[in-house]
Amino acid sequence: MLAKEHRLTKKVFRTLIADLPKNELEKALKQVQQVLKPTSKKPLQLTTKVKIKPTKEQEEILWILAENCRLVYNFALAERKKWWEKSQRLPKKKKDKENKPTYNKQSKQLPKLKEKYPRYQRNYSKTLQDALRQLEADYRSFYTLRNNGDKEAQPPGFKGKKYFTTMHYNQKGFKIEENKITFTHFYPTKETKDKVNLSFEMQGKFDFKGMKVKQITIYQIHKTKEFYLSIIYEPSTQEYQDNGIYQAIDLGVMNIVAAVNSHEGKTIIIKNKRVEKYWQPKIEEIQSKRDHCKKYSNKWHWFNDKMWKMIKKQANQRKDFQHKVSKKIVENTKANTIIIGDLNVKVMSRSLKGDKKNVKSLHRNMQSSGSLGRFARFLTYKAEKRGKIVIRFSERGTSKSCCYCMNKENRLLSERTISCDCGLVIKRDTNGAVNILQRFFTLLALSQKRLVVRQRLLKDFREKFFRDTQPNVKRKFLQKRSWADSQEIKS
Ligand SMILES: [Zn+2]
Repeated sequence: MLAKEHRLTKKVFRTLIADLPKNELEKALKQVQQVLKPTSKKPLQLTTKVKIKPTKEQEEILWILAENCRLVYNFALAERKKWWEKSQRLPKKKKDKENKPTYNKQSKQLPKLKEKYPRYQRNYSKTLQDALRQLEADYRSFYTLRNNGDKEAQPPGFKGKKYFTTMHYNQKGFKIEENKITFTHFYPTKETKDKVNLSFEMQGKFDFKGMKVKQITIYQIHKTKEFYLSIIYEPSTQEYQDNGIYQAIDLGVMNIVAAVNSHEGKTIIIKNKRVEKYWQPKIEEIQSKRDHCKKYSNKWHWFNDKMWKMIKKQANQRKDFQHKVSKKIVENTKANTIIIGDLNVKVMSRSLKGDKKNVKSLHRNMQSSGSLGRFARFLTYKAEKRGKIVIRFSERGTSKSCCYCMNKENRLLSERTISCDCGLVIKRDTNGAVNILQRFFTLLALSQKRLVVRQRLLKDFREKFFRDTQPNVKRKFLQKRSWADSQEIKS
């Protein structure tokens, strides 16, 4: 009995590796290295969007400051354009490179400008510098286009007066107290009465505790006139440590999560919320109504706006659901290491099969995989915040093989439960998750010098998992084998 178990474990070990082509195996091994030698990573940076409601007086100030940024941008742009147009006509060698306007040269002129025109003294100086930096970035992408042979590419355009110019506060120029952000700005004279503070309440939407705020951007949505802050911050993170507990997850469209835990062999299945089932018919109805109107007429616009609102709502619901599920997974698992299958492979293999009749379903599949990609990203950063890591490698072959005996079978997607000849009866997605976990153990063993020690993880997991969740499998399988063996002897 034990010898057979051992042989089977070896088969699992071999098959799961054999299913991976060389390049995928190399990638997967690299991923697993993270567990063995955690390297200190770049700090995690996240962005959040917060709506602010400036008072009338605050809005006035914001417009003054943004207008200064706009003017600085436009003046500097004029200088750059002039140089560019002149040098356009000259051969390469004769170009006046020395006087070419650059960010460094232009930002050195800012103090002079402030002296001459006091209006610019109202800005926190970094916001003006950042307007120039923005221009530099815009020019760089323009030059890249030109260098790549796009002769039609034009220099960036002047910023219009109607639009609120986005302002960047990089590292400094703002103060954060509890739930309030205050931006620095100045008045022309110290004696100015009724000074307005640019302080905005975050209304509990954003918790700054233990966070390093790197940059805040103030912008306005032109259409709705609403003001927003885009905040880039580094959340406090814990350091990862391998605690010997692993959770593997098979991500899917039907079940967004099918997970198995190495510690207790616990399995979890979370059904995907198919928001499109509710929204799609409604959206299609409005769309058809819209298409019956004269294009761009008032009525057409009315339906069009309504349709886009619905599409946005649908997308938000899907996103909210993914946030909730990923948070739950990361918070509830004892595992510090979460392993997920790489989805690219899933999409590829499906599209290669090329069911041409059903392009629509393929398209839908790609879409939902895209949204699964986002779910994987949510999972990854939420894990990182809590000192856990997410490891991702190819899940090729994991849905075909029975996780107990490794026999392969092509199964229809509609087959939600697998019953193998060996006696294993298991949900299709759970089978995938178990195989991903087993592949992880195999890779871990391969990355170790002492193969035997790490092979134990796979063996231990199998012993516990199949004994606890599949009481019939071993006996049935082994009986069958011994029956077959005896047949052989007879003949
Ligand atoms: Zn089997």
